[in-house]
Amino acid sequence: AADESALLATVPDGLLIAGRWVPASSGATLDVRDPATNQVLKTIASATPEDGILALDAAVAAADEWAATPPRVRGEYLRSAFDLLMERKSDVALLMTLEMGKPLAEAAGEVVYGGEFLRWFSEEAVRITGRYGINPEGTGRTIVSQRPVGPCYFITPWNFPLAMATRKIAPALAAGCTVVIKPAELTPLTTLYVGKLFEEVGLPSGVLNIITTHQSKAVSGPILSDPRLRKLSFTGSTPVGISLLKQAADNVLRTSMELGGNAPFLVFEDADLDKAVEGALLAKFRNIGEACTAANRFLVHESVAEEFSTRITEAVNGFVVGRGTEEGVRIGPLINEAAVAKADELVQDAVRRGATVQTGGAPIDRPGTFYAPTVVTGVVAGSDILRNEIFGPVVSVTTFADEDEAIRLANDTEYGLVAYAFTKDLARGQRLIEKLDTGMMGLNSGVISNASAPFGGVKQSGLGREGGFEGIHEYLSTKYTMTPNP
Ligand code: ADP
Repeated sequence: AADESALLATVPDGLLIAGRWVPASSGATLDVRDPATNQVLKTIASATPEDGILALDAAVAAADEWAATPPRVRGEYLRSAFDLLMERKSDVALLMTLEMGKPLAEAAGEVVYGGEFLRWFSEEAVRITGRYGINPEGTGRTIVSQRPVGPCYFITPWNFPLAMATRKIAPALAAGCTVVIKPAELTPLTTLYVGKLFEEVGLPSGVLNIITTHQSKAVSGPILSDPRLRKLSFTGSTPVGISLLKQAADNVLRTSMELGGNAPFLVFEDADLDKAVEGALLAKFRNIGEACTAANRFLVHESVAEEFSTRITEAVNGFVVGRGTEEGVRIGPLINEAAVAKADELVQDAVRRGATVQTGGAPIDRPGTFYAPTVVTGVVAGSDILRNEIFGPVVSVTTFADEDEAIRLANDTEYGLVAYAFTKDLARGQRLIEKLDTGMMGLNSGVISNASAPFGGVKQSGLGREGGFEGIHEYLSTKYTMTPNP
């Protein structure tokens, strides 16, 4: 469509290094495709390892001046970027739908959610403080202050092209750190557009550098081993996170890791079933199920399991599947063929072990990479679907007999990002908060993400927190000074 081409023409196609948009030094390019049609949307620069080091050079060169820039001024760049993003809301939403596939209404929701990190951290920039005290012996004064950690490298995934970028860029800039960001090769256009927004609001050159590449590993290696780099923040899969942590260890980097999840969604016999179904649909089908916070395992009390599954199946049967730009579409394409194959393998494995498909259960035969929204019930212990992130529109239902069993099943995973639980019993809710091994919880809520809240996991779901008061501390290091009494 004409409006799509016009928008794509406004997206930069180069690398953003030291305030200039430049081609890759090798001339290499990479094609970005629409997963709903498999058509090429735009061809952009694909950085070499040398380009990555040039981007780091720029971040290092800008570091001292940015750290010394008054916090209010740093915050105002973020605030201006937020305001401009809100003016361009429909453009950014369309861009995300084109490169990632999510329905346009959800993309618009991500502009608001992702934009909030810019506003939240514009306000946090001026609240970085320390403390001054007398030591217990009374022999001296202690001063505790905060300094920016230094140049940062960010690697982000394709599922939330805007929010995953702003969630890292905003706190880093607020804290006084400079940045090199490498978005996922599948959805780099939104990050390039964010670079353009910061350019338009006059962010000084070199504070934010962007490299896009189809060789993430080769480009990231030299950056991670460069002693000038001080921080790595990664969002993506646990295996890649583990490999990056090993590389970061050689350089003793500060790290923040937002890795995989395997969220349980508990429905107790005393739950408000209307609310549980509504929450389940949000927790499962938001972003076509392609979220680390997506409900992965529905664990439902045996007395309400049939009614819950029936109601979910009815709702799913009403979902419109299509390109995210089309009116009324709830389920867009998955990101690529591999994502479709993975979802299908998990469903087929569950069925082989005895589960029943209530609806869906197969790829959709049409251009693009679509998987039918699916409900499988009676999923038995040991099925692969209970161990692996589905990352697709598949509801998997297992039953439990009592609260102890529910908690045991919920915690039976190496992941610990988020758990959802629906119950009207307040005491039970409080027990669950204490007993579920996760960094986050939705208690009678199917949505948890918010810029003001500390997002993050325990166990193999990651390290550190993004958002909230905690978010900026990922980019600050504490300095303590001892002085004699005055
Ligand atoms: P997903 O499964 O969501 O695609 P990945 O962990 O594979 O998640 O990818 C997340 C990000 O990590 C992307 O930007 C990708 O380019 C990058 N990436 C993947 N593998 C590596 C690697 N070995 N080294 C550095 N970056 C990587």
